[in-house]
Amino acid sequence: MTTFEELGISKEIVLGLVDLGFEVPMPVQEKVIPLLLGQKTDIVALAQTGTGKTAAYGLPLIQQTDTDNHLPQALILCPTRELCVQIAGDLNDFAKYVDNLKVLPVYGGSSMEVQIKSLKKGVQIVVATPGRLLDLMRRRAIKLGSVHTVVLDEADEMLNMGFLDSINDILAEVPEDRSTLLFSATMPNEVAVIAKKYMKKPIEITIGNKNSGAENIKHLYYTVHAKDKYTALKRIVDFYPSIYGIVFCRTRIDTQEIADKLIADGYNAEALHGDLSQSQRDSVMQKFRIRHVQLLVATDVAARGLDVNDLTHIINYALPDDISAYTHRSGRTGRAGKTGTSIAIINLKEKHLIRQIEKLINKPFIAAKVPGGREICEKQLFNLINKMENVEIEHSEIDPFLPSIYRKLEWLEKEDVIKRFVALEFNRFLEYYRNAKDINVHEEKGHESREKSGRDSFRDKGGRGDARKEVTGFTRLSINAGKADGLYPNTLIELINASSPGKRIRIGDITLSKHDGFFEVDNEYAKFLSEALNDAEFRGSNLAVELAAGQAPASFNERRSFKDKGKPGGDRDFRKGSDYKGKKSPGDDQGFAGRADRFNPKKKKKK
Ligand code: AMP
Repeated sequence: MTTFEELGISKEIVLGLVDLGFEVPMPVQEKVIPLLLGQKTDIVALAQTGTGKTAAYGLPLIQQTDTDNHLPQALILCPTRELCVQIAGDLNDFAKYVDNLKVLPVYGGSSMEVQIKSLKKGVQIVVATPGRLLDLMRRRAIKLGSVHTVVLDEADEMLNMGFLDSINDILAEVPEDRSTLLFSATMPNEVAVIAKKYMKKPIEITIGNKNSGAENIKHLYYTVHAKDKYTALKRIVDFYPSIYGIVFCRTRIDTQEIADKLIADGYNAEALHGDLSQSQRDSVMQKFRIRHVQLLVATDVAARGLDVNDLTHIINYALPDDISAYTHRSGRTGRAGKTGTSIAIINLKEKHLIRQIEKLINKPFIAAKVPGGREICEKQLFNLINKMENVEIEHSEIDPFLPSIYRKLEWLEKEDVIKRFVALEFNRFLEYYRNAKDINVHEEKGHESREKSGRDSFRDKGGRGDARKEVTGFTRLSINAGKADGLYPNTLIELINASSPGKRIRIGDITLSKHDGFFEVDNEYAKFLSEALNDAEFRGSNLAVELAAGQAPASFNERRSFKDKGKPGGDRDFRKGSDYKGKKSPGDDQGFAGRADRFNPKKKKKK
């Protein structure tokens, strides 16, 4: 495995990386660092947010800075204030043990005088938003004559935000023999034009597919009537009790409205949009970063540059007007090698947009069903039990009360205590969802009948239909292996056959990605198969097969109906005062996404 030292990174920078916990370079770093440390070169890198691109260009820039020269030598242009602050912060972290290196973020909305003072004191790396940099140039407060490298970070986003003219004006003032590095999540024509105009034989680097989303992000969509979108949002959020994510809305007004509704309904949410003052925005972002806020309801612009790595979900409450922005949104989850889920809540009319996005990200969406009351209640119940199992007990505080509590409960059996404890906390949820209706919009009739006949095939025919349709009678299972692991539809069918001798199990859609996938089987055999295949050995590794998100477990009917339990009561304020502070209990279930990393080709077989 390559190390940063092997890529040519100096000792003092590596020390900073060790403090940050960077053990090995990420792919974009492995590719870009040696190029930049070698001879002068221009680079066009197609890399999603979260791939580690800041260090990819930042480490060589730091290393090549002459700290005896107090003039700017590297200029990084980026679209937003937040990203600007974040990049400068990252560079400072990388350069923690490099003496006398000054990095300055310059952006609009903050004091120009302070920035001018800092520039006068000497700065070698300037991270700037184009507008403010131009202001400083016009005031002759910044000298760009020593700049040897210009980085255009999130170039596509800068162009989306109308910075083309500013970029042209800035580049005209930077020495022509500079290196120009362009990083972009997508490569629309406008970006290609910039690359052609300003770059000399750039080396093109692609991390992942061109214009594609990260591999470790699942893309789901839920189809509901427009009027049910908010209800769907709440159900999805309730189905993922440990969700920590961003809900994207189209306008500032929508953003505020959805956030207000969520807050009024007891969710731990906040709005982030351009109508808030800078200090309000800072405060919301800080609360979100430290996980005091679980759901950030935001516009695209406001959420840019928010550096949070562990987001479990992105929810597109409204798809972006410009669908290329979808990649930016979804790229906010599944970062730094983690898994994530990007969800679109759409109505039937928006379905064609899903197809367009699929082409853009080169990955299929999975049609998911908005979970019903039973599934949500079950998920919440087990989340509660997990929390109970993992709660930290403050013995010194609680011990004095225990003897009298034990005495008071002496008349109850252990099972009764558990039942009462569960009912106490759970009844409110139960009540809320007791009459929850199915809000899924199903395919139009014609489709359904085509679909059904397509699905009548038994496994030996290997029949597969359109992955997006939902047909009754099938349960969707997730599997932690995909084509890159040697699992193809025919192999999966063979596995199912082998694990169910003598049974005729119908198989529906099979969708396999690189390292995971989904398949549908007869409802009645779903539980049997998930158990039969779970932990089964496949090519030296153990499979993990389980009911996919939004599926009623086949075992559900075997359980006692929730209706039988306890008395309904209380309002639905279970989240208020909840102990959700970002402490992730080990058993927390983030839905199927949390399991995807279980397939490890190096994992030893079970004996
Ligand atoms: P970026 O794409 O630059 O925003 O980076 C995404 C996230 O990955 C940031 O939070 C970085 O701190 C983190 N990161 C970058 N490089 C590494 C690395 N080599 N090892 C671990 N984390 C990294």
